[in-house]
Amino acid sequence: MTIQVKHYIDGEFTHGTGTSQITVTNPANNQPIAVINAATSAEVHAAIASAKAAFKTWKEVPVSERARVMLRYQHLLKEHHDELATILAKETGKTFEDAKGDVWRGIEVVEHACNVASLLMGETVENVARSIDTYSYTQPLGVCAGITPFNFPAMIPLWMFPLAIACGNTFILKPSEQDPMTPQRLVELFVEAGAPKGVLQLVHGDKTAVDILLADPAIKAISFVGSVAVGQYIYKTGTDNLKRVQAFAGAKNHCVIMPDANKQQVINNLVGASVGAAGQRCMALSVAIFVGAAKEWIPELKDALAKVRPGLWDDKEAGYGPVISPAAKARVLKLIAQGKEEGAECVLDGSHFTVKGYEEGNWVGPTMFTKVTTDMSIYKEEIFGPVLCCMESDSLDEAIELVNASPYGNGTSIFTASGAAARKYQHEVEVGQVGINVPIPVPLPFFSFTGWKGSFYGDQHAYGKQAVRFYTETKTITSRWYESDIAIATAPNMSIN
Ligand code: NAD
Repeated sequence: MTIQVKHYIDGEFTHGTGTSQITVTNPANNQPIAVINAATSAEVHAAIASAKAAFKTWKEVPVSERARVMLRYQHLLKEHHDELATILAKETGKTFEDAKGDVWRGIEVVEHACNVASLLMGETVENVARSIDTYSYTQPLGVCAGITPFNFPAMIPLWMFPLAIACGNTFILKPSEQDPMTPQRLVELFVEAGAPKGVLQLVHGDKTAVDILLADPAIKAISFVGSVAVGQYIYKTGTDNLKRVQAFAGAKNHCVIMPDANKQQVINNLVGASVGAAGQRCMALSVAIFVGAAKEWIPELKDALAKVRPGLWDDKEAGYGPVISPAAKARVLKLIAQGKEEGAECVLDGSHFTVKGYEEGNWVGPTMFTKVTTDMSIYKEEIFGPVLCCMESDSLDEAIELVNASPYGNGTSIFTASGAAARKYQHEVEVGQVGINVPIPVPLPFFSFTGWKGSFYGDQHAYGKQAVRFYTETKTITSRWYESDIAIATAPNMSIN
């Protein structure tokens, strides 16, 4: 049965009236599972108008009441955790365990948003001049919008709207059209948590809907997560239209393996971090640089990767699921073929992998290349598939130089037993999130998600204190009160009763 996906506009769930239809498919067999009537221009404008009207009252709601909505929301999300993970797994193909992680990482941001009163605290200095005090408040911006990718349909929307709304803004979410049902359920639960009408809107669609959000002057800030080309487009267009924009884009994450590292831990960590979630994580490790004698572990790594078997979302033995679409699979296969043509050695080739009974699905088996060089397409492009590129270097300095020459800077890891090597790496590497014997160093929500270079356009990052700055303006007040006024106020004819 095909499900009709719902928008949430001006406090109503609606199938919409758009005639442009988008089909949502099960990545395991490419059968349709849902259909979206892409939002019309009138529907997107109606969502913006409703969010604009709701801002007037929502910004006046006391901060502790706004926080209470988040408290109820985190409770509901936990209560519906497995249900959300099931919806998510079915539309993304992720394994159930992985889907649960996607939901959980989002819940953690909602927990952070429950603490919004402390996060909003401004600064004060008494007596900046005689009888003069200066203090600052943080105030919400107005209507904010979020445009999210397919690969974390729970976590990434939850990076955005709970904090933006807790800060007093209203919000329009335009999730990926490839997996819209998880965001729909997130919005239903938010309404159940007591969010007043108009505070959150959900519009489904593609570039057409995004372009309206980018152009409308009522939208004050845009949060985007997705591919490099779209991220650059959103950042340029949004800022050109004088909006605040944070755009999280693609990545090519390197890890450096020193010969003194714990071999077994390196192998276990690398397997999960490279092909887990079919390599469709912006923090996936896609390049492994083996320093010196560590290269002797490459055959063992290959053997470990070869044991990983993709499968269906509810197959408990499956290491990961299919990639999201036939187009994504075709891209990965093309890059694997290019890697071979350009001279890399494909020691493990998942190009022809399939799952019995699900031959039409977007399967790619674990794939590993050695002898990769920086001029190859498999090195230069984000593959976003279960493909690991192995390289070798003679020294830590050489490895750092290689990592720093990459145009991306989302995440990186070093595996070593040496504090000195780890300290040198964390200090010198030009990447925003660094793991030391930790393969995917995604910060918890009291920090921020701090990608650098071509992986991020903007200045304030997602969640943590930075997101609160992104979703607010600072108002600084300088006040003077004359002591002589006290005498007037306490004069007999001024008494209160
Ligand atoms: P995508 O760029 O194709 O789509 C992201 C969003 O942009 C979707 O909502 C989509 O509808 C919209 N969109 C697509 N094309 C558009 C266009 N031409 N104009 C306006 N809007 C458009 O990304 P995706 O394939 O869904 O997600 C995968 C990418 O996201 C990868 O590159 C991955 O690295 C990146 N990502 C980055 C981070 C990070 O934090 N840096 C996190 C997750 C994913």
